[in-house]
Amino acid sequence: MKYNFNAGPSMLPREVVEATAQACLDFNGSGLSLMEIPHRSPEFRAVLQEARDLVRTLLDVPQDYEILFLSGGARMEFCRVPYNFLRRSAAYLDTGTWAFQAMHEASHFGQVITVASSRQEHYTHIPKGFEQRIPDQADYFHFTSNNTIYGTELRYDPESPVPLISDMSSDILSRPVEVSRYACIYAGAQKNLSMAGVNLVIVRRDALPPADRYIPMMLDYREHLAAGSMLNTPPVLPIYTALLNLRWLYRQGGVEEMDRRARERASVLYDEIGRNRLFRAVAREDSRSLMNICFVMDDEFAAREQDFLDFVEQRGIRNIRGHRSVGGFRASCYNAMPLEGVMALQQAMRDFEKQVLAGRV
Ligand SMILES: *Cc1c(COP(=O)(O)O)cnc(C)c1O
Repeated sequence: MKYNFNAGPSMLPREVVEATAQACLDFNGSGLSLMEIPHRSPEFRAVLQEARDLVRTLLDVPQDYEILFLSGGARMEFCRVPYNFLRRSAAYLDTGTWAFQAMHEASHFGQVITVASSRQEHYTHIPKGFEQRIPDQADYFHFTSNNTIYGTELRYDPESPVPLISDMSSDILSRPVEVSRYACIYAGAQKNLSMAGVNLVIVRRDALPPADRYIPMMLDYREHLAAGSMLNTPPVLPIYTALLNLRWLYRQGGVEEMDRRARERASVLYDEIGRNRLFRAVAREDSRSLMNICFVMDDEFAAREQDFLDFVEQRGIRNIRGHRSVGGFRASCYNAMPLEGVMALQQAMRDFEKQVLAGRV
């Protein structure tokens, strides 16, 4: 048994991986691979439509919002968002590498107002009271709901005088969201939704301001809306895997159930990190992510880092090395991570602690 804690691309339910493999060989009994069928065929249109419908159902997306499957990764949306929404100024919350890069991209389209930043504190927390500082003349307020690298999360829909836009790449579909507060929500697929290669974009049709600049066709949300995610050949395989995963999610009980599981998994690990003498958490308690649980060895045991990685490896626990800018460990616990995975990690932490304290390793 292997437990894959990678931050992205991340684990998917085994049955989703198997059904994807099957569709690569023979799609729906057609004798053709999913990769070979016309993307405008009724068969693929049905895939796209069902995926859209499931996102609408699972996140309770209102009718005046459109659901798009685009490509270019979440980082493409860092540029598409300001291209389409930024006319004069936009407010951004600087909570990590991704947030910062989104701001940098937007700065070429107008004024970027940093509402608050935790950059000076190595992004170990989400700044308090930022909601009161969002300027009401901004075109939108952008934030990253989950900071994948630093393990902090804003697990609610903030109050804002201007429309919200959020990068939800690493916690999409892990909790209910009040979509009506947002002009646009986007997410790269490879954390909680599918494999890399597709982005989910949820956009309110009338939130798009009249274009006052030339927008290249592939960057123009309006063009994508008009074409129903078929402006060019869509990434059929990642969209199909997204559909399979959305069906899985629905059968498991939807986003309320995903939220419950996320809380359960995170409390097991944060409790253990708090109890265990070898480790300490990276993020401040009030900002901790339920998705990416970042921890390091206490200074006293810093030399044991590689030993611990080797130790967990023997137990089938993979990819818990922290991001290079944080170090230590990161256990990414997305929707597909079973409770047994975190229990296995918890047990490994306990057993390793015993060994170290007994001076045996
Ligand atoms: C992974 C990640 C990105 C980058 O995604 P790509 O699809 O590789 O462009 C952006 N934002 C967040 C929050 C992420 O976790």
